Amino acid sequence: MAVLDDLSGFEFEDLIEDVFRNLGYEDVRQAERTADEGRDVIMEEVVDGTRRAIVVECKHTGTVGRPVVQKLHSAVATFDFDGPRRGMVVTTGRFTNPAEEYVQRLRENDDPHPIELLDGEDLREIADEIGLDLYNGRIEILCDEALRPYDPAADVEAPVREAFRNIENIDAGDLPPPHSQVLFRPVVAITADTNAVFETSVGEIHRINDRTRFVVHAERGHPQVADDDVATLVTENLHATVDLEEDRFAEIFDEIEQRRFGQTQTEYKDWAVDRLQDYHTTTVTYTGDNNVTYNKTCEPNLSDISVQSIEPVYLPEVRQVTDLGQYSYPYEYYAAGPSRTTREDGIHRCVHCETSGVEETYTYCPNCGAIACDSHSKTERVEGEPVCTGCAVTERFALKTKYFYDEENLQAFREEYETMPIHEKAMENKPLIGGGFVMTILAIVGLLVALGVI
Ligand SMILES: [Zn+2]
Ligand SMILES: [Zn+2]
Repeated sequence: MAVLDDLSGFEFEDLIEDVFRNLGYEDVRQAERTADEGRDVIMEEVVDGTRRAIVVECKHTGTVGRPVVQKLHSAVATFDFDGPRRGMVVTTGRFTNPAEEYVQRLRENDDPHPIELLDGEDLREIADEIGLDLYNGRIEILCDEALRPYDPAADVEAPVREAFRNIENIDAGDLPPPHSQVLFRPVVAITADTNAVFETSVGEIHRINDRTRFVVHAERGHPQVADDDVATLVTENLHATVDLEEDRFAEIFDEIEQRRFGQTQTEYKDWAVDRLQDYHTTTVTYTGDNNVTYNKTCEPNLSDISVQSIEPVYLPEVRQVTDLGQYSYPYEYYAAGPSRTTREDGIHRCVHCETSGVEETYTYCPNCGAIACDSHSKTERVEGEPVCTGCAVTERFALKTKYFYDEENLQAFREEYETMPIHEKAMENKPLIGGGFVMTILAIVGLLVALGVI
């Protein structure tokens, strides 16, 4: 416990608060600091439907005697809570015999406000249990839960097949299996309550009663608030996690990687509280008794914000790359069983221009493997199949550019064109057919043919 002993009383209370939150106690918070004493930690537990308050006295000293326990007992008895209450003294050191005897006597007398004692030895055991890092007095995040990287009811390739479904000229059944990677990224879902009332001489001018739930990317570096769609994916699927065992996914994915949580639980908590304080700070305009208008900045105190839970989980980022011809198509998404949020859609993206997004039409070019937008997809003149402008060999016939898979097809068409009667040649310029303009073109073409130009 040497390092625990190095903490200040203030840090010790923060640590104890985190320890109990970790153990599953509810609404863990610190009472206001009084002048001479440290702050008590207040928390709640629900037993058979009855909510009980627990007042925790933190004593960061070598030895705790009977007066401390006795004083806490009276504090518990008078503690303002609508329901049963009990007390707890937590110390990094040890309790004197009279202190323990006092607690023993309360128990024997079925006192309505029993007290429990946790000494340094007990803390050490709890520390091991919850992964409390004794070297820096903070709680490292231990997490082996992940959202499902794929839906066992479908299969791992289902999202890619679905993405290819509306690509013209390719059947999902013809796709080669994609190269599938999964990266388990640490995230933390934080729930916090902010309750504050702001009053002036004219009475209440502003009130905050808010429960905020947000999701934070928790890798090395600064915590980053997740986008709304990612936050929804995480919070709605927190109930359906699986054990993160690499073996279990090794047969499904070609590559598996796991990132580490970058910070301790305490740091995420502090960060969340700071952030909520900023978020809830607002300027309120009100009219005083003298009919003068005032602006007042209402900033909640740190003690107005209580973190209810910090839930770590691994969010799988799946990247699947499908190789077609000379192109590779990445498809990347955050997964939670059958649900997912797309991160990168390289399938709905023209390889020849900036066109992207699922609203556009794309066509697969079997000649080179390209997926191209409408303006970069043409019809191959000989095969009558799609070809993209990137790989096509072109030549103008009847004043119109024609597209071919290769030189061979072009040569074949040159020979065919050679033998065509003139009206068929004119048909090679279809959009012009039917207009009065066509007759002019026909006449010109006829003239040019007659002159031996074409
Ligand atoms: Zn294009
Ligand atoms: Zn092509």
